[in-house]
Amino acid sequence: MSTSPSEPAVAGLYFDGRSARPHPVVLSLHGGELSMSGADLWRIETLDSLRLSEPMGEAPRLITFSDGSHVEVRDHARLAHLLAASGQRDSAAVRWAFEPRAVLVALALLVLIAWFGWRDGLPWAARHVAASIPAATVRALSGQTLQLLETRALAPSELDASRQRKLDDALRGLARFEGSPIPHRLLFRTAPRIGANAFALPDGTLVVTDELVALAGDDDEVLAVLAHELGHVHERHGLRLLLQGSVLALFMTWYLGDAGSWLAAAPAALVQATYSREMEYEADDFALRLLRAQGLSSEPLAVMLEKLQAARAGAGKADAAGTWLDSHPRTAERIARLRGQGGR
Ligand SMILES: [Zn+2]
Repeated sequence: MSTSPSEPAVAGLYFDGRSARPHPVVLSLHGGELSMSGADLWRIETLDSLRLSEPMGEAPRLITFSDGSHVEVRDHARLAHLLAASGQRDSAAVRWAFEPRAVLVALALLVLIAWFGWRDGLPWAARHVAASIPAATVRALSGQTLQLLETRALAPSELDASRQRKLDDALRGLARFEGSPIPHRLLFRTAPRIGANAFALPDGTLVVTDELVALAGDDDEVLAVLAHELGHVHERHGLRLLLQGSVLALFMTWYLGDAGSWLAAAPAALVQATYSREMEYEADDFALRLLRAQGLSSEPLAVMLEKLQAARAGAGKADAAGTWLDSHPRTAERIARLRGQGGR
């Protein structure tokens, strides 16, 4: 049988599944059946017994018979015409791939997935990897960061010893979480260049400046700030910031369990990093839990934040420009939040 010139047909190469030899054939469709003809070849198969591969760029499309033999068709356009002329619709995925609007939708979805991966996936991964960093690494990192700060910005405290001891004892009473003491040590330093501040190193070392103690009206205000700092330690915020800041570090630490390679640069990076708003809220919430467990109010923390904000404004430092060391950003929002949920 031959196909008439007006009848839609498409050329292909038939492989019988037994040898690698191609046989040139012509395909045509009649109702629900595919006809294939070539030299010494003749085959008719119902369409629902065949498999048609998806188009993949310039690669030939494969029509596979139930016995495993197949036809390669390079002329996509003619094949599509053949299918259309016989009332056959290509599979949904195939139609989608050629619909420009569908391509745009797929692209937009990809961008969204990438964006959420970056915004949510990275912090999520950092949180999990941070939890697995060995204590020895955390201690080494904290020690090096402290050393960097001691050289650049910190000097011995001038606060009298009895006041230091009183604050230290009070903090020990406060630093309990779910019945267990929170490991920490409190260091007093003066820091004329940094001013009133308190910060936490990942191993639980808390540094409070004489300037902050002077700014506080009483010990409750100092303690409230230190409780907030314990929150940063407990939630491993410093480590998470470091890991989020370097996808490579995150990968190395997770995959090789090797934190050593980024440890050298980590102290400088930590001093430059900024806690996110979510981290500040987490630390505030943690402070609230500690304060409430001792029957204390969160108001001293709100008051202290106001004082710090005013002190910073006086020194000409913008709130948003704050770094891990320099300030706790979004102070106004935090004050409102503290008073909204826990100031009573
Ligand atoms: Zn903070």
